[in-house]
Amino acid sequence: MENLSNKKLGFGLMRLPLKDNKIDIEQTKKMVDYFIDHGFNYFDTAYGYLNTKSELAVKECLTYRYPRDKYILTDKLTSTYFSSQEEIIPFFMNQLKRTGVDYFDIYLMHAQSQNNYSHFTKNKAYETCLELKKQGKIKHLGISFHDTSEFLEKILIEHPEIEIVQLQFNYLDIDNPVVQSKACYDVCKKYSKPVIVMEPVKGEILANLDPDKAKILNDLDNGSVASYAIRFAASFDNVKMVLSGMSNLEQLIDNASYMDNFIPLNEIELEAINKVVQMFKNQHLIACTNCKYCISECVQEINIPSLFALYNQSLIRRDWNPYFLYNSVVTKNGKGYASSCLKCGRCEKVCPQHLKIRDYLKDISKAFGK
Ligand code: SF4
Ligand code: SF4
Repeated sequence: MENLSNKKLGFGLMRLPLKDNKIDIEQTKKMVDYFIDHGFNYFDTAYGYLNTKSELAVKECLTYRYPRDKYILTDKLTSTYFSSQEEIIPFFMNQLKRTGVDYFDIYLMHAQSQNNYSHFTKNKAYETCLELKKQGKIKHLGISFHDTSEFLEKILIEHPEIEIVQLQFNYLDIDNPVVQSKACYDVCKKYSKPVIVMEPVKGEILANLDPDKAKILNDLDNGSVASYAIRFAASFDNVKMVLSGMSNLEQLIDNASYMDNFIPLNEIELEAINKVVQMFKNQHLIACTNCKYCISECVQEINIPSLFALYNQSLIRRDWNPYFLYNSVVTKNGKGYASSCLKCGRCEKVCPQHLKIRDYLKDISKAFGK
């Protein structure tokens, strides 16, 4: 496929700014304007993002305000929103309506993994979307992916019509045996599929480093800590776009400043990143990206990502504060403690990071006492 854009920074619309629990539309408009004014044009959404409000914000902040050739828009087909082939086209047409466009530049089979791939194949999702492509409603077909490199290869062999692959790719997951960022990247390269990077800062983990790790990067005096993570991903030649889920104008201005004229990381910067990676490895933190997919699955109302964040904080800080905050994260009705986990495993089925959530909750209940 032709070059996506002449700049490698894309706007991920899953962590937009919130005000009174709703998307802050005025700030989002300012972010979109700044992004486009500075020559960026790639936007990524999905039906489920931000409690299904992201696509609507796309219409209000982007597509109603800019001509169609000013932006590239990616949307996705998510397994939870169709139970038969017949439901796919109406769902897709509704996405066009909700985002206010006549076609998507890129349409992805969302979060392909061994958990849901058979749902897509059984319901002929690939064939249906290929038909939509023939009708001009999709310009390029691809997948977003969360599984092993072997499984990615299997999908690419079975579906040569895939033009592009969206991968979780960041300096912490590069050799992570579960995420397999680099191994998946290599498979994409082997099959000549350009890569779009998601989670370059791993949720917000690589944008909010603790002081010891941040110091290593700040001593380089060459940008924010997040800038090294974004530039790390963009430094790989087959990476055509790096998505950043920007949450305020300040973050966007920062990202745009170093991605306007992108410079790959140099040897000294890579060495500093290796030191940070080693520090992470020594701490054995839980690799949760705070995507929140698990929360609605839990009948015990356990706020899994918040408990994981507190646990990680306790490993990093080793002071009383995470223990103090623990009670404020759980619900008031006696549910929500790590110890209230029923071990049903529903959360693990939807976790794109394939975390052993039940085991971690056991560790947390031991550490926090309930
Ligand atoms: S395994 Fe535990 S945390 Fe996960 S959904 Fe079941 S009760 Fe909730
Ligand atoms: S689904 Fe997994 S990665 Fe996402 S918030 Fe839950 S535990 Fe974290």
